Amino acid sequence: MFIKENNIIHSYNPANKELLGSIPVTTDDEIENIVKKCKDAFKIWSKLSYEERGNCLKKLATILENNSNDLAILMTKEMGRPLTESLPEVSKSIKFIRSFADKAEQMLSDFIINEIPEKDIKIVCEPYGVVALIKPWNMPLQTPIWSMAPALMAGNAIAFKPSENSLLVAKELEKIISQCDFLPKGLIGFIYGDKEQGIALLNNDINMVSFTGSMKAGKEIAKQVADRFIKTSLELGGKDPMIVLDDANIDFAAMAAVWGSTTNCGQFCSSIERVYVQDTIFDKFVDKAKEFCEKIKVGNGIDKTTEMGPVVNENQFKKVIEQIEDAIQNGAKIITGGGAYTEGELANGWFIQPTVIVNLTNDMKIVQEETFGPIVRILKFHSIDEAIELANDSEYGLGSSVITQNEEIAKYIASKLDTGMVWINEPLLSNEYCPWIARKNSGIGYELGELGIKEFVKLKIINSQFSSNDILRKWWYPYK
Ligand code: NAD
Repeated sequence: MFIKENNIIHSYNPANKELLGSIPVTTDDEIENIVKKCKDAFKIWSKLSYEERGNCLKKLATILENNSNDLAILMTKEMGRPLTESLPEVSKSIKFIRSFADKAEQMLSDFIINEIPEKDIKIVCEPYGVVALIKPWNMPLQTPIWSMAPALMAGNAIAFKPSENSLLVAKELEKIISQCDFLPKGLIGFIYGDKEQGIALLNNDINMVSFTGSMKAGKEIAKQVADRFIKTSLELGGKDPMIVLDDANIDFAAMAAVWGSTTNCGQFCSSIERVYVQDTIFDKFVDKAKEFCEKIKVGNGIDKTTEMGPVVNENQFKKVIEQIEDAIQNGAKIITGGGAYTEGELANGWFIQPTVIVNLTNDMKIVQEETFGPIVRILKFHSIDEAIELANDSEYGLGSSVITQNEEIAKYIASKLDTGMVWINEPLLSNEYCPWIARKNSGIGYELGELGIKEFVKLKIINSQFSSNDILRKWWYPYK
């Protein structure tokens, strides 16, 4: 969590509200200078071969690896994610860097069009220049790396504005990158601050925007750069549904729903935010979800046995509590959890009990608005088509999950779900080779995989002919 005061941002531990550090916000002049340095670095970096760029990124990955523990501890302290999750976040980020370092050349190789024999036609990929990377806090290392690694491999320079809620993690990353004298100076610039500094960055001469964050901010950013036709990739919020059919193993399905709804305290764009369960297994499913939720070990994430930490800050805490209260006022029933901790150590931080809530209708705030909290919302359906209709009744379209052993029905449901990603018996999966795709108000553009790296290049078609150039083309003047 953070407090901004006189152009200084103070960062606090959401588990106990202890002050962790303070960072001055980057001034407008400094931002301009950072972008200028990025432009200079781009001239050098973009001329390197993929192999040379890849070698630099692999060296960076090794340095990050040597700093894994410190980075993970800082992440846990600053945004509450337990060490049991932040350590794998660091290693996964390193894996992403190595994978793009190895695969970029193949992914961005020239595309040859050979259907016209006398022509030599190819589509080539060229970097944009300076990419403004504006990122959230909920995976403070992995989300920036998802974009940084492919953007750099594609030959771009980066002006990175991390979230105001994870500035210290970003500062540590900057410290590590500043030791990398094998990278051109200024290749990755860091801009500290909140929305104000994000806006200031976009007012500079940048060539592309890679934004991950809320739908509201995504729309504001798209408007801000629209006049300049700047390429914009927007990865926004979600309200992912999970559909559970009655042939599913109840333990598997309930744990998939509970874990998918509460891991990282429910603060993933792809967290399960609605669970639709077939009527015939509804009661059994709710009992199991209650049992699993009550076993989650909630606490300060620095303790290696903790499974769930606090939400990131007071605003997030209030938003989750308000949504729960609104649901109760409208007839919802709490099965377990349902609010904050009022006693003991957990009362000192922004902790919310893992909650199972039922008697919900699709129009309630808690079922429609992105929550970002540890809530398992369970709704009943009677037919497959009803489940699909309920799942699609959302302004978001990021991911969705189906739990069933019936392959044919799973494929039918997957074909009808209006989301960019569908996971069958595997909620929330992200992998460096699988593109991350959004629909509706969840965004525009791709991350990861070949589609992801292609976001960071301009395409150019080169159409050439080196034969018969002493004969005028028959479609030129004079027309016959
Ligand atoms: P946010 O939109 O409040 O902020 C994200 C970043 O944008 C921050 O760095 C912030 O300072 C900056 N910012 C905010 N408004 C801006 C503006 N008008 N102009 C320029 N910069 C601006 O989001 P958050 O609270 O940091 O993150 C949570 C959100 O991110 C959730 O909605 C979550 O679903 C989403 N998210 C999406 C994905 C995805 O892949 N789709 C991944 C992670 C998080």
